[in-house]
Amino acid sequence: MRKYKGKGVYGAYALGKISIFKRQDISVKRFHVEDTSSEKARIKSAKEKSALQIKSIHEKALKEVGETNAQIFEIHMMMLEDEDYNESIENIIDTQHVNAEYAVAVTADNFSEMFSSMDDAYMQARAADVKDISNRIISNLSGETSEKISSDDKMIICSDDLVPSETVSLDKAKVLAFITANGSSNSHTAILARNMNIPAVIGVGSRFLSEIEEGMEAIVDGFTGEIYVNPDEKTKADMLEKKRADEEKKKLLQSLKGKDNVTLDGRRVNIYANIGSVNNIGAVLVNDAGGIGLFRSEFLYLENNDFPSEEQQFNAYKRVLESMAGKKVIIRTLDIGADKQAEYFNLKKEDNPALGYRAIRICLTKPEIFRVQLRALFRASIYGSLGIMFPMITSVGEVEKILDICEEVKAELKSDGIEFSDNIELGIMIETPAAAIISDRLAPMVDFFSVGTNDLIQYTLACDRQNPDIEEFCDTHHEAVLRLIEMSAENAHKHNIWIGICGELAADTSLTEVFLRMGIDELSVSPPYILALRDKVRSLDLSKGSN
Ligand code: PEP
Ligand code: MG
Repeated sequence: MRKYKGKGVYGAYALGKISIFKRQDISVKRFHVEDTSSEKARIKSAKEKSALQIKSIHEKALKEVGETNAQIFEIHMMMLEDEDYNESIENIIDTQHVNAEYAVAVTADNFSEMFSSMDDAYMQARAADVKDISNRIISNLSGETSEKISSDDKMIICSDDLVPSETVSLDKAKVLAFITANGSSNSHTAILARNMNIPAVIGVGSRFLSEIEEGMEAIVDGFTGEIYVNPDEKTKADMLEKKRADEEKKKLLQSLKGKDNVTLDGRRVNIYANIGSVNNIGAVLVNDAGGIGLFRSEFLYLENNDFPSEEQQFNAYKRVLESMAGKKVIIRTLDIGADKQAEYFNLKKEDNPALGYRAIRICLTKPEIFRVQLRALFRASIYGSLGIMFPMITSVGEVEKILDICEEVKAELKSDGIEFSDNIELGIMIETPAAAIISDRLAPMVDFFSVGTNDLIQYTLACDRQNPDIEEFCDTHHEAVLRLIEMSAENAHKHNIWIGICGELAADTSLTEVFLRMGIDELSVSPPYILALRDKVRSLDLSKGSN
């Protein structure tokens, strides 16, 4: 038995035989051609064929992975018609007198290099798409097909990487799981895997590919990212038991889609999702979240090599709001610093970074950064139901300053004639003991509170959340933490604002009843936890003593 470790991107188990994904090598040769117009005519018909194929993949994707995820193929369709892309192909044919395949391959290389070198993470991801679409055109020019699964049985598909069209083209009925040597958890491929309910492990490294053979038996643990090749009997038996229990649990949870988050005695609670990227929306929708309770906007900054522009941010926020189709979306302003560092901020090294220059402290002392984000957020607000929340609040003065800056930014937009919604909720995170203790003063100033338990625990218990050595002292159920949350909930309701919890503790179902009894109105958790939390809520009866 050999063990490998990658990153699990969809939690499920699989046991089966390995199939090495066969991508026909599309090696392109360069020929001299006299008749350039016939090469251009070949391009035209290959593009028509490609368009039909993409249309049918798009329809398949719409059925299997939903509208948002199927949009990738709309992008492919747009690329197919992109003027610059097509002009480049024709110019290469005309000026170099070369065959169509070669002109497409060179154009693909140039465009994908250009996309890869862009700062915007969204544009960088387009490099894979331009390659994908170009390979399709080349295949159609030469009459080859690129995707194929070599067996009729369900197999564990192993590959260096899979481009989105390859992932969705895989016949789900024949795929047990997939493993890729490369790939990132935010790639389209990973997202599609999650939404197709296929256990998937990415980034296992190229050694894995060189050591496996077609038909070898393997176990895929999509939770831990572990892979066992030629597993022994004991490992197999353990895994089958885990698989059975997991499938049973998931089957039961699926039946909760579309159901209300309501306790037996009629108490309702909003269950929202936490995301760090626009690319997580698929999982939010598939798990039937009522909204987004925390979009960690700093990931837009972390994915970049320089400050994301207003336009870049606007596009990201707009996409999230549009995808949620009117459901509440709460975007947290930049929470950089401490464990989240981006070099271009040039932050000084600190002895106690968690207690240092981070989050709102950066925004208030560098308002030029803050204003760009606020402009982007306000502009995006017309595309849905937006809430904006501010992290790491410790004082009334900070909130006053924030609200003043918001007013100034709005006035600026108004005078520029730029539209924004007049119905944007402004809230703060309760993630410092100070904020909880003065929550009676803060509540009248804002529209909502969201408790960040990850930081609230670290600051209340003086336990660095990054330090695994002190975990035993970090009692997440500590009475002091719970009292601070309760105090904040009381003060929120006294001032008629709502209060949610968006830290990891929101997903701890052993506390759901406690939170509901405190009057918490919203729980925001990672998408895979939504249905389990709904299940817990629906099992509670708050009219009785503790359940
Ligand atoms: C928190 O502190 O609980 C929180 C949600 O914010 P983050 O984990 O991003 O610090
Ligand atoms: Mg926090």
